[in-house]
Amino acid sequence: MSSLTVRNLRKNFGMVEVLKGVDLEAKTGEFIALVGPSGCGKSTLLAMIAGLESVSSGEIWIEDRLVNSVAPKDRDIAMVFQSYALYPTMTVRQNMLFGMESRGVPKAEQVEAIKRVAALLQIEPLLERKPGQLSGGQRQRVAMGRALVRDPKLFLFDEPLSNLDAKLRVDMRTEIKKLHHRVGKTTIYVTHDQVEAMTLASRIAVMHQGEVQQFADPDTIYNRPANMFVAGFMGSPA
Ligand code: ADP
Ligand code: MG
Repeated sequence: MSSLTVRNLRKNFGMVEVLKGVDLEAKTGEFIALVGPSGCGKSTLLAMIAGLESVSSGEIWIEDRLVNSVAPKDRDIAMVFQSYALYPTMTVRQNMLFGMESRGVPKAEQVEAIKRVAALLQIEPLLERKPGQLSGGQRQRVAMGRALVRDPKLFLFDEPLSNLDAKLRVDMRTEIKKLHHRVGKTTIYVTHDQVEAMTLASRIAVMHQGEVQQFADPDTIYNRPANMFVAGFMGSPA
């Protein structure tokens, strides 16, 4: 079964068409990377999947449910942004509890979920701190933790590592990979970093000017690019 199916998705902002008929599909547990230059429509596509932007036309399916007009909170999705968007006045624990409380998860389950996810991400020592007392890498880990405790069907990342320095970015990449192996959540991961996409994803969608130019496994994308744009963007051998 597919976790996510996007069919002929279009988005207009006024007269400007920023998505021009996008198709995308993620099988259950799959890690999909969405790459492309700045302004090609990656964040818009992710926001539409999350329900934060309306659909101009086309279809978004999560498992067997057409979600075009389903509210964000009812889509069973968790999203991690590059700006960590943690609540600054709440502790890490409170940040993680927040989403679960608002969805009416029983108290005992909340406590259990925090224990499990904190152990998974090795953030137990940080639970009583506030975001201001954390490093960039720790904040990003907490943002992931907050998404994970909700146990969503679909995990959306929008350039989660782009605010981190190069060394930390490589470390976090490894952590995200391990995490995906352990929890096996269907993931759509937006990045403008080709290497990140190649290391993490089982399939890569390369976008340019609101269109998916190629959607295939990393080896195919790199060695058999569909066109000049994909070859240039991925740095394929000539
Ligand atoms: P990316 O994430 O790939 O950098 P975006 O999805 O953010 O690209 O943007 C795609 C295009 O849509 C850009 O040209 C951007 O200026 C435009 N855009 C994004 N959001 C809006 C908006 N709310 N109103 C008008 N134009 C927008
Ligand atoms: Mg973006």
